[in-house]
Formats: sequence, structure tokens, C-alpha cells
Amino acid sequence: MMTTNQIHAPNLSYWEKETFFKDIDVAIIGSGIVGLNAAIRLKELDANLRVVILERGVLPMGASTKNAGFACFGSLSELIDDLAQHSMEEVLNLVAQRWEGLQRLRARVGAERLAYQEHGGYELFRSTDQLRYEACLEKLAEFNRALSSITGVAETFQLQDAKITQFGFQQVEHLIHNQAEGQIHTGKMMEALMELARQKGVAIYTGIKIEQMDEAQNQVRLSASTTDWSIYAKQVIVATNGFAQQLLPNLAVKPARNQVLITKPIKKLAFKGCFHYDCGYFYFRNINQRVLLGGGRNLAPVEETTDAFGWTPLIRTALHDLLKQVILPGQTVEIDHYWSGILGLGNQKKAIVEFVSPKILVAVRLGGMGVAIGTLIGEAAAEKLQCI
Ligand SMILES: Cc1cc2nc3c(=O)[nH]c(=O)nc-3n(C[C@H](O)[C@H](O)[C@H](O)COP(=O)(O)OP(=O)(O)OC[C@H]3O[C@@H](n4cnc5c(N)ncnc54)[C@H](O)[C@@H]3O)c2cc1C
Repeated sequence: MMTTNQIHAPNLSYWEKETFFKDIDVAIIGSGIVGLNAAIRLKELDANLRVVILERGVLPMGASTKNAGFACFGSLSELIDDLAQHSMEEVLNLVAQRWEGLQRLRARVGAERLAYQEHGGYELFRSTDQLRYEACLEKLAEFNRALSSITGVAETFQLQDAKITQFGFQQVEHLIHNQAEGQIHTGKMMEALMELARQKGVAIYTGIKIEQMDEAQNQVRLSASTTDWSIYAKQVIVATNGFAQQLLPNLAVKPARNQVLITKPIKKLAFKGCFHYDCGYFYFRNINQRVLLGGGRNLAPVEETTDAFGWTPLIRTALHDLLKQVILPGQTVEIDHYWSGILGLGNQKKAIVEFVSPKILVAVRLGGMGVAIGTLIGEAAAEKLQCI
């Protein structure tokens, strides 16, 4: 057994071995929001630590560069839905965590760098959603009371049916506005986080897919089959979210694909904001005079429980229908581009930040809330690792 951290890589030069992979204190697998924030926080706690991020893609290839950029803490129906699995206290704690996480992200990256815009959020209800709407009406005052101490706003959720015509929506009967919701530019956020990590001395190596982790007495060996390398680190943080089961099959986190489209610029786009529909399963927003629309995984739950990127005709059609019949009715709309991203979900809406062995910590299962809680979860992972 090796007693010091080294790399085993048949074709690396002496120079490469002596620099890039030498004496790694913490290796972080995954360069999403969580991995980057964990790395940044580790360097803040101890600037002398050698922290290395190992990423399989050329860019981060999960959810953090693919998401919709909603800086949100849940639509009213989503929060009510959560009450089926969680107590009111747990739901409010999660809202508080999301709220605090967004403040941390803004403090870390800066509102300007995030291209943060506070246009608010809206939940749409169609005639078929009458029961859901009534459930929201019933709980609206209770949630507003409870949320006021978190958001500092007396009425976080407000009925705003008058805006339906202004926004040009069709088949929409009701709108509930959330004035405390904002939106960011996801790409700019990730660019800024990567820059910050590098400034602090974090090395980010891409094109390295870790296939296996073996913990020996005083180090962890990470095997990367793509390069036939074994990389050694004293401690490891696994921040692979929706892909976590590839490395740790027993972890309670399942992948969930989300399909997204973006339109070409629209001459007179009548709305700005983040929009939620069907308990958050569908979502859309404005960005640079375009509409970004995604979701629909609830239409094919089995098929969409996958960590493979891709598209299906069923969901593509559902998104097209929503766009043309409800969001931009009567307008000629051209789709510019499609993509998909992979979420990490569980039975509970709670991230997992725990040791799976003495030197390997996981920080995964961010659900559809990673923009909001990713900073806190990454930081929590770093602090937990530093405590031992
Ligand atoms: C389409 C979509 C829309 C979303 N919209 C929103 C939103 O509006 N607001 C919000 O708050 N949240 C949203 N989310 C959720 C949010 O994006 C995620 O919760 C968050 O990005 C998760 O960050 P992460 O760092 O945990 O994981 P990821 O960003 O998935 O990062 C994991 C990284 O690990 C890498 N990796 C995986 N396996 C390996 C391996 N074996 N070796 C090396 N590297 C590996 C991956 O390539 C990836 O880069 C959305 C997600 C999707 C998919």
C-alpha cells in the first residue's frame, strides 16, 4: 500500500506527476454548483489545502449549467404538495434554507455577475386545475403569515388574475404572484464560480470520469477508466448529484431528466418573470426576449428516471403545446434550441451531506432547488469535512 498521495498513470511524465496530481488533500468529484462551492469554502477555511476538482465533462455536465435559473423557493402548490411528505415545520425550514442559500449565492458571486433580476414568480392555473387552485386559496394566508419572517414580505403570495390578459396567456384562469422570486443567468453564475475557485487556488481538471473509489488506511484511490489513471487523495467529496448511484449504488438518490427548449427572440414578449405550472413540473421564463420552457418529466416518470441526456417526442410535444396554446397563443414562434439536464431526487426533499466512509463525504440530492441551496450544501460539505 502506498503511504503518501501519488498518482498511478502509465504515460504521465515525471513533471506531470510532480505537479498536477501531487499531494492532494481533498479531491472533489463533480464541478457543479455543489462541487465548486465546497472547493471555495475549503480554501477559505484553510488556504494551504491542496484542493482538486475532477470533472468528467469538458464543462460541468449535470444540472448546474443546464437549469432554468429560477432563484426561487417553491410555488404555493409545490409547498402544499410537500406537506404530503413533510411536516409544516420541515417545509418552512426548507424554504428558509432556500432563501438563505440565495442570499449566500448573491453575496458570493454578486447580483450583477449573476445577472440577477427580480421580476417575481407566478403560478398558473387552468380550468382543469380548479381543485389545486382552491387548495392554494385555502392555505394562502397561513403560508403568507409563516413566510413573512423568512422573506420579510407581509404577503409573499398574492392573487394576480388581472395580469393574465396583460401577459397574453390563454386557457389560464388564475395567477398567483410571488414577489420574492428572482431569476439569474445560469451560465454567468457557473463561470463566476469557476473563476472564484481558480482564484483561490483550486485546480479543476476536466475529462476525468471517476469509476471507482477505494479507501485505504490514510487515503482514497480514485480510478478513472477514461484515462486509466489512479489518483490519490487524503479525503474526497462526491458532488455528482444525479449520477451519484454510478459510484455509490446504494445511495438514496435517483436521476431525473429534465427537457428544456428556448425560442428565438420574440418581438413583443409581453411578460417577464419565472412561471410555474402543474406543481412546478413545468416552468418557463423570459431571457433576452426569448422564452425558456422546460419540464414535463411527470408525463413519463419511468422513462425520465434516467441519467442519460436526451429527448422524447412525448415531452417535446407537451412543451410545444404549452408554448403555442397557453404561453404564446396566436404568435409565430420558432424554437432555437433544445437540451436536457439531470436532477438528483429522493423520497425526501432534503440534500444528503454525510460520510459514506471515514474519508469519503457525499453532498448530493439537490432536487430542483440547486440554484437556491447549492451554495449552502457545498459549504456545509466543506465544513463537515474540515471538522474531522
Ligand atoms: C433542466 C433543469 C432545470 C433546473 N432549474 C432549476 C431552477 O430554475 N432553479 C433551481 O434552484 N434549480 C434548478 N435545477 C436544479 C439545479 O440545477 C440542481 O439542483 C443543481 O445544479 C445541482 O448541482 P450539483 O452540483 O449537485 O450537481 P450537477 O450540476 O449535476 O453536477 C454534478 C457534476 O458531476 C459530474 N460527474 C458526474 N459523475 C462523475 C464522475 N463519475 N466523475 C467525474 N465527474 C462526474 C457531472 O458531469 C456534473 O458536472 C434544474 C435542473 C435541471 C436539470
